[in-house]
Amino acid sequence: MTVNNVWIIADDSKTADELCSGGSQLGKHLCAVLFGSEDQAKRAIALGAERVYLFDRPENSGMIEGHSQSIVKLLQEGKADLALFSSSACGQLMAGRIASQLGTCVFSNISEISAGDDGIVVKRLVYGGAAVRMEKAASETAVVTVEPDLFDCVPMDETRSGEMTHIYSKADNAGIRVLEIHSKQSEPVNLSAAKRVVGVGRGFEKKEDLKMAEELAALIGAETACSRPVAEGMKWMSKDRYVGVSGAVLKPDIYLSIGISGQIQHMVGVNQAKTLIAINKDRNAPIFKQVDIGLIGDLYKVLPKIVEKIRTQK
Ligand SMILES: Cc1cc2nc3c(=O)[nH]c(=O)nc-3n(C[C@H](O)[C@H](O)[C@H](O)COP(=O)(O)OP(=O)(O)OC[C@H]3O[C@@H](n4cnc5c(N)ncnc54)[C@H](O)[C@@H]3O)c2cc1C
Repeated sequence: MTVNNVWIIADDSKTADELCSGGSQLGKHLCAVLFGSEDQAKRAIALGAERVYLFDRPENSGMIEGHSQSIVKLLQEGKADLALFSSSACGQLMAGRIASQLGTCVFSNISEISAGDDGIVVKRLVYGGAAVRMEKAASETAVVTVEPDLFDCVPMDETRSGEMTHIYSKADNAGIRVLEIHSKQSEPVNLSAAKRVVGVGRGFEKKEDLKMAEELAALIGAETACSRPVAEGMKWMSKDRYVGVSGAVLKPDIYLSIGISGQIQHMVGVNQAKTLIAINKDRNAPIFKQVDIGLIGDLYKVLPKIVEKIRTQK
């Protein structure tokens, strides 16, 4: 059993594809609200959307959230049972505005969503990842933000047909005016797409020592990540590189943790890795209960040897 009307609201093409894939698996009828090009709208139709509403991207000073009233109207007219948004900053802002106008709440940080006889049910981790809570939507329209990679992709079918409607609405009042836009200084990172990840923790004594892990990561074509204290406390790495219940959730082929104890809040972000490897000098560190390969040793002795070995074999 699925729900009737699923709507997705997306402001970039990757998100639109992911949400359409998920939406078409969850509902009988899929509608998409997009801020993009006609090509994007055609992709949404190929992924299952029956109708696409294509909004103009707001000018520099405008905000996508400023279109929330027009979108709420579409959702109400379309009797939406479920409205899906991405968990990006913009997706969350939009979801919040729309939920408040619909008189409901937003389900966020979910680990699973299903649509059954009972309606929309979501699961999310609580108590720092130690338990899973199931929640059922009680409102007419469930508003949900989803993390990247929550849904499996569905194949595109370019023979599908659907309606495309351009919406030339004036942005309602977003309550915010953009004054200036600056590009991000740090390099963008997409940990959830990485196949190999080297994670560093408080076992490193100084920021400069992270160079050893960075060198290893470069040699094996891996991204670098960290535990929360390394990003939030020591500020040695940017916040988008920390992994766990309140950070990124990864599904790499290999996750190599170095100097990380393996607290549940961190492991929630890595336990979907195909192979988990850990280096830690404490044989009783909790991480050793969860790994496929564990190396008990001082990272300051072990890591240079591993780097040297790989370098000479290249
Ligand atoms: C609500 C909540 C949410 C949280 N969310 C997250 C989250 O999303 N992500 C996250 O990571 N944490 C999160 N935490 C924090 C989490 O509980 C842990 O405190 C954190 O993960 C510990 O980081 P760590 O393993 O780097 O440090 P530590 O726990 O201090 O572990 C350091 C490890 O390094 C080892 N070590 C020390 N020296 C060496 C050496 N020379 N060689 C080898 N090993 C060495 C030690 O044996 C130890 O096991 C959260 C906490 C709370 C309360």
